[in-house]
Amino acid sequence: MTATCPSDVAPARATAVTLAVFYACGGLTVLLVAMGADADGIARPALLAVALTAFAVAGTTARWGPRWPQAVFHALVAAGTGLMTTTVLVSSDPVTAVVCASLTGFVAMDAFCFFRLGPAALHLSGAVAAATAALQWRGDVPLVTALAVCTVTVTIGVVTQGLVDLAARAVRDPLTGLTNRRGFDDALHRMIATSGRTGSKLSAALLDLDRFKEINDLEGHAAGDAVLRRVADAWQRALPRDAVLARHGGDEFALLLPGTAGSDALHLVRRLSDLHGDVGVSCGVTELQPADSAAQLMRRADHALYLAKAGGRGRAELDSGHTSELAHDLAAALAEGAVEVHFQPVVDLSTTTVTGVEALARWTHPRLGPVPPDQFVAVAEQNGLIGALGEHVLRTACSALTPLRLAVGGSFGLGVNVSGRELCDPGYPERVRAIVAELGWPASDLVLEVTESLLEAHSSTAVRALHTLRAAGLRVAIDDFGTGYSSLSRLDTLPVDIVKLDHSFIAPIATSPRRAQMLRSIAGMADALGLSLVAEGVEGEDQDAVLRLEGCRYAQGYLYGRPVPLATLLDDVARLRTDALAGSASGG
Ligand code: C2E
Ligand code: CA
Ligand code: CA
Repeated sequence: MTATCPSDVAPARATAVTLAVFYACGGLTVLLVAMGADADGIARPALLAVALTAFAVAGTTARWGPRWPQAVFHALVAAGTGLMTTTVLVSSDPVTAVVCASLTGFVAMDAFCFFRLGPAALHLSGAVAAATAALQWRGDVPLVTALAVCTVTVTIGVVTQGLVDLAARAVRDPLTGLTNRRGFDDALHRMIATSGRTGSKLSAALLDLDRFKEINDLEGHAAGDAVLRRVADAWQRALPRDAVLARHGGDEFALLLPGTAGSDALHLVRRLSDLHGDVGVSCGVTELQPADSAAQLMRRADHALYLAKAGGRGRAELDSGHTSELAHDLAAALAEGAVEVHFQPVVDLSTTTVTGVEALARWTHPRLGPVPPDQFVAVAEQNGLIGALGEHVLRTACSALTPLRLAVGGSFGLGVNVSGRELCDPGYPERVRAIVAELGWPASDLVLEVTESLLEAHSSTAVRALHTLRAAGLRVAIDDFGTGYSSLSRLDTLPVDIVKLDHSFIAPIATSPRRAQMLRSIAGMADALGLSLVAEGVEGEDQDAVLRLEGCRYAQGYLYGRPVPLATLLDDVARLRTDALAGSASGG
């Protein structure tokens, strides 16, 4: 039922405006009819009175209607039927009476636009019955004519219902019957505008099911779908009527709570997540701040969700709009140099020696323990700390690795991950150049790892920064290639030197001949374009064998070495060198 109920999505404002327009048009119709009516009888003054009443209702509804509860609209649609009946009864001639009876069409449209199917059908039946009875009571209109008017009215009602249903489907998630992302965005913009006008509070929340992937993987998609439906249904029933609950993506739900402060919203989502102890829910909550845009509000909710997950899932966090505790602690850790840098070897498969490393940041929170990099990188991005984090990693890595680079002799690549926010900072290329110059790290031995989606999102500025950096001698790697919208044609146009194949692409190469074939094609193409190819996430000997066979030159993964502190890295480098020597000795 909810899936086809437009009244949940039809805002009071749209209802009010449409009703006002219909009342105004109805008033105009009656006014015209009144002007043509016999000047002597009571018809003309009575019709004029009805027309004026309709105009007054139209004006009042347009002005104050958006604040009225839905019951008032039911009353006004019923009143429309009443006024129509009056005009039919007072009309001086049958033609005028039939014209007035045709106003039931407005009642039909209004009812089906804004009410659930049941109440709308009641309004329609009432209007049709009243029009027929009034026309028959007059005695000068044949029954078939009255029935013809009713047929038109019912048709208008049915068609309106069909169109409204179609429109509602575009903003509904078919699985849960909830509003979809598009409907949510519409509601969000509408509610922010209302808050701006009236100064009322608005809170937003993102709710993410913790165990959903597990349920899907272990129990199948049908079980996953059932969980989504059960959760959506229970939450919908527990929420206030004016709340908007949407399915935002796979297992993520979004919630808008008009008139609710952040702290109350936090209590509410905690109650919601308690309804599903078996699934586990992480929630991020935030309250609209003055001058917030829709994107800013949802970014904060997303940030709060990150913190909830980082804090161990099953939690709800409120982002007050001010710097969060985690961001505060991360800033302190950066200032104290407490963010560590680990190194993962990159291996040249033709010689099985370490040709470089990727630097990966590691942070252990004093209370929460180790925080996954994906999460603290996001916190850094959202709190203006990403520049400091990137610089810390770059400096630490260059200083720590210099002895190893000198010992290895020749080139030794250092890969550092670069966030979109960093690349879009106009001062970034110059800062990087200055740091490597200061620490004596050769520019050509520094590889900046950027993801393709980042380049898509921040296109022109980011791409320009990469051109500047390459002109200064640095190399650029496309990270996580093979995920998202990686497109081969972009490789030809982007300023890159290295392609890093994501571990999700590499995982099946030993078991899927098609994937191995794709790998061979990509290796051939990278070769033709003069790009180096690095396979990421290599965990098994069988994958290593396929990589060598299909012509992928470089690899990285647990098989060769995990991300480790410098001291352990030195052991790994030595071990790989011994293995390589042993291999070449036994091979000939
Ligand atoms: P990434 O750039 O794709 O880094 C590679 C990730 O794969 C690392 O995760 C690494 O630990 C993991 N990995 C390496 N070998 C294997 C393997 O054989 N199997 C599997 N399953 N995983 C493997 P990590 O350290 O959790 O980092 C996650 C992401 O966080 C990185 O993805 C990178 O995007 C970001 N990140 C880490 N450090 C920094 C940093 O200093 N700055 C920025 N901007 N981002 C960073
Ligand atoms: Ca990387
Ligand atoms: Ca990667």
